[in-house]
Amino acid sequence: MMNVALDVLRVADWQTEGMTPPVSDPSVHEAFLRETLALARKSLDVGSSPIGAVLVDKNGEVIARGRNRVGEPQTARRVGDASVAHAEMDVFFQVGKLENPQDLTLYTSLEPCLMCGGASALLEVGRIVWATADPWGGAGRLLAWSDHPAMQETEIVPCPLPDLETEGASLFAPEAKRAFPDEGWALWREKYPTETEGV
Ligand SMILES: [Zn+2]
Repeated sequence: MMNVALDVLRVADWQTEGMTPPVSDPSVHEAFLRETLALARKSLDVGSSPIGAVLVDKNGEVIARGRNRVGEPQTARRVGDASVAHAEMDVFFQVGKLENPQDLTLYTSLEPCLMCGGASALLEVGRIVWATADPWGGAGRLLAWSDHPAMQETEIVPCPLPDLETEGASLFAPEAKRAFPDEGWALWREKYPTETEGV
């Protein structure tokens, strides 16, 4: 009987030892990826592309939030009204100079483009996690992330949670169809046939 009780009470070691959970456990990413998706919806509501991003420190604190602002006016505080006003760039402008960038994780709702991936590499961000792949606009189409000469120290975690990957694909699909050439939309149809059906 005692063994049964112990089994019921058994929890993961990291929960009992006060340690941060291992990054290999996809659930550690869930709350942050959900926040990027919420930011993406905000962008869509105000006329920009539905992409969000957050930067998280080693203690799991969000130190900057950003979202795509290409369809909004530029302000003194926020980049906007420019094709480079991507969610990740918004994050980097917000956070300013980074301290201990290797301890930081950049979460995005959609796989970063070559510009944003390059900026992350330049800043030496330790880890990048995205909810949904971008088979056309993502850097991975042009350059294997693992081959990027500046990304050797960056851990890449693509699409760790299938439910959120689906959610992100459905959210971005209309924009992919609108913004990408036929060839790009075809890649989206191939990668996410269910999420792009009827878009
Ligand atoms: Zn970008």
